[in-house]
Amino acid sequence: MSQDPNCIFCKIVDGKIPARKVFEDEQMLAFHDIAPWAPVHILIIPKQHIASMAETGPEHAGLLGHMMTVGVRLMAELGVTNGFRTIVNTGADGGQEVGHLHLHFMGGPRPWARG
Ligand code: ADP
Repeated sequence: MSQDPNCIFCKIVDGKIPARKVFEDEQMLAFHDIAPWAPVHILIIPKQHIASMAETGPEHAGLLGHMMTVGVRLMAELGVTNGFRTIVNTGADGGQEVGHLHLHFMGGPRPWARG
């Protein structure tokens, strides 16, 4: 597993900084966002350090599909029954702040702070 010692999400994967984990397996980890935009806001990350969606290719299709489908299941398990939003920010112009690929899954009753 390639890890970046300076990456905050790699430190969460390694247990060096805490997170409210929801689910993990050998490929991915899901945890609650520290500054949620919605009543339920989780992040899904690959355990392997991948800087962004721009760094992925066909070899990552299985991993990306796995992260997406687990996210759907976790939202249901967290009680989100009326729809949710999925966002992946990529690179500077995409608004990506943390340089480790992550899927935002957000749900719960509206209105949310950021619309
Ligand atoms: P943005 O901050 O513009 O949403 P990103 O798409 O890079 O950019 O999202 C990074 C997300 O990671 C933010 O929602 C932020 O609240 C969250 N975050 C940062 N540090 C932590 C942490 N230690 N634990 C949980 N979530 C974190």
